[in-house]
Amino acid sequence: MNLFDVTGRLALVTGSSRGLGLALATGLADAGARVVLHGRGGPALARARDAVAERAGTPVPAVEFDVTDTAAVRTGIESLIAEHGVPDILVNNAGVQRRAPITEFATDDWDEVIATNLNSAFYVSRPIARAMAERGSGKIINIGSVQSMLARQTIAPYSASKGGLVMLTKGLAADLARSNIQVNAISPGYFATEMNTALWQDPEFDAWVRQRTPAQRWGKVEELIGTLLYLASDASAFVSGQNIFVDGGMTSVV
Ligand code: NDP
Repeated sequence: MNLFDVTGRLALVTGSSRGLGLALATGLADAGARVVLHGRGGPALARARDAVAERAGTPVPAVEFDVTDTAAVRTGIESLIAEHGVPDILVNNAGVQRRAPITEFATDDWDEVIATNLNSAFYVSRPIARAMAERGSGKIINIGSVQSMLARQTIAPYSASKGGLVMLTKGLAADLARSNIQVNAISPGYFATEMNTALWQDPEFDAWVRQRTPAQRWGKVEELIGTLLYLASDASAFVSGQNIFVDGGMTSVV
């Protein structure tokens, strides 16, 4: 018996048009899950669909909605369920980062960060968790960050959103455990994606990441997949409300 088997399971990964979300969706598809991609549309999502479809050898569906818009989320999830069924696996990955000292931080940017990184997980999880509970099974995995635990200058709102997301993970886990739904978080360290282009292109920041991470390097997106498959499969049947850091040891040292 393969405890980590996700063959045929329906998986929605939010924010899978690029970056970590695309890598996570690709990992699930490679493991045999039926993946539904997600984004707000446009060329990145189209490219992601082509890339995952080519590996999977079958067309890959996508849903488009803004995760900060409750009405759009409701409609998007309703049509997803009507067309494909109730997801077995939900990965709440969509996110943004805005950087500025807190005294200069614009209210609109604060609202965007909290809405995209935290509110979205509530909006998307609510209808899917209801349907999972009716069925009596499900896995929800929220993508946190080392910033859920460690603060850093210029990203206080991001840290607040990710800290909140980890506590939402625990709260969802508490409410949904009796319905055989496990809710956990994966908190990545530093990965070079579009979100933090300005950081990995900055030699000083690059050097800081290498010095601050015991593994002395940035993460590779495919290094998140093992933890995802663990949390998405029966291997983690009695694991809920946990936050697993995949960070090259960053959060274990000062
Ligand atoms: P990217 O900027 O590369 O990708 C972000 C994804 O989120 C895109 O698919 C984007 O879709 C989607 N998205 C953003 N805002 C919205 C919205 N309002 N509605 C719908 N979709 C949206 O970021 P990463 O891949 O780097 O980050 C993914 C997640 O991982 C985030 O939650 C981030 O906080 C987290 N993370 C990243 C780390 C890193 O080092 N990169 C480290 C720790 C955590 P669209 O095509 O519509 O723009």
